[in-house]
Amino acid sequence: MSASPIWAELIYFATAVLFIVGLKQMSSPVTARRGVLWAGAGMVAAVLATFIGMPLTNLVLMLTAMALGAAVAWYTGRHVAMTAMPQMVALYNGMGGGSAACIAALELLRPEAHGQLITTLAVLGGLIGAVSFSGSLIAFAKLQGWLQRSFYFPGQQFCNFLVLGAAVLTGLLLCLGESPQPGLVAVFFLLSLGYGVLMTLPIGGADMPVVISLYNAYTGLAVGLEGFVLGNAAMLIAGTVVGAAGTLLTRLMAKAMNRSITRVLFSRFGETSSVSVEGEMKEIGANDASAVMAYAESVIIVPGYGMAVAQAQHKLWEFSRLLQQHGVQVRFAIHPVAGRMPGHMNVLLTEAGVPYDLIEDLEDINTDFPVTDVALVIGANDVVNPEARSNRSSPIYGMPILDVDRARNCIIIKRGRGRGFSGVDNTLFYAERSRLLFGDGQQALARLIQEMKNL
Ligand code: NDP
Repeated sequence: MSASPIWAELIYFATAVLFIVGLKQMSSPVTARRGVLWAGAGMVAAVLATFIGMPLTNLVLMLTAMALGAAVAWYTGRHVAMTAMPQMVALYNGMGGGSAACIAALELLRPEAHGQLITTLAVLGGLIGAVSFSGSLIAFAKLQGWLQRSFYFPGQQFCNFLVLGAAVLTGLLLCLGESPQPGLVAVFFLLSLGYGVLMTLPIGGADMPVVISLYNAYTGLAVGLEGFVLGNAAMLIAGTVVGAAGTLLTRLMAKAMNRSITRVLFSRFGETSSVSVEGEMKEIGANDASAVMAYAESVIIVPGYGMAVAQAQHKLWEFSRLLQQHGVQVRFAIHPVAGRMPGHMNVLLTEAGVPYDLIEDLEDINTDFPVTDVALVIGANDVVNPEARSNRSSPIYGMPILDVDRARNCIIIKRGRGRGFSGVDNTLFYAERSRLLFGDGQQALARLIQEMKNL
């Protein structure tokens, strides 16, 4: 690849600064929107600098691909439901990894000789990018409900190691080869793609958030490596920033889930608890539920994915204010993986106007449940499932949960007997102190609000 002119290098440098400042701004809800715009402006500048500053061929093909990609991204970005955001993130991660793998493939097929270092980096970036691409597509299909949550067959881990070993071996042969070897390149990418699929199939349940952020980190790393191969500073820096941010997020998510990354990747997560819970769910009407909460001293509200589906956050805050007017102490407890993306519940509650000081993290509020009169669970399931504490064979075993079962009373709003994301039964719903208020989150809250006003 020929070197870019100095002005293009300067624009790439400015792009890197825009990415870093944008990323920094995204860490606060107040500046996040501006951060996205800054990073977007950086990306536009980098693309323009590449188009104007570099001798490019196949312009028509490139512009057509870009126009198509931009149109699809614009449409899906505008229309995607908040609850479908993880699928979209998984898809975008995959596209980034796939692009890095394509660059690697082209470089490995180039007739001009590369140095050993460049070939090795291209192979490494190609392997990571291809794994991220196929793995992200599987993660997308799982989150979209197109694939069963986890898939396991006997000897799977051995098979995974074989495929990875074969991919690495082929990669080594490519590094050592003198001239381009199209057949070997094809085998290398097939094996890498296969490994991404095999690695992701058994992962499910509570581990999905960790996997998605891991692929985010992989994609950044692959793009950074290919940026080095192409001698493109913007790609190199952007890839490194994404790789570092993704790695940090992966560590944070794994810590929040009480998992090590190796356990997520190499444990047998296909197994789910075969024990289904015995007993009966005890129902409560909106009139009784509102009376129990109105005469309580303290209520802790635990929102989950179902609240997001029902878009019930505004009604929830309206109901909370009515409780406050009755002199009830109301707080909101947020689990780090409640909903379908990091910070999902915080975003929704903030959008509804819930003040930050009423929102508490798991570690700060968990000890308060035993002295709380009512825990009101709305559309949460896995994040309040006591099986995570006690059932070793459960796929969510070890994940920290909000201890709502230790509150004096627990009222749960959900539509029916649906299970949570991990697909396991929840003993909380059958517990002595639990009462179920069946219905769509928004409608159930509307009934509660009405009953409160009638009190
Ligand atoms: P869950 O997905 O475990 O449970 C959601 C519950 O909401 C279900 O029990 C469902 O029951 C109920 N529900 C669905 N729609 C409605 C509605 N309209 N009104 C009322 N209730 C409704 O949610 P949690 O938030 O507890 O847990 C999140 C899960 O998602 C975890 O397993 C986590 O690992 C996973 N995950 C999290 C990600 C993240 O980054 N936060 C990313 C990917 C996965 P019913 O059908 O009976 O109504």
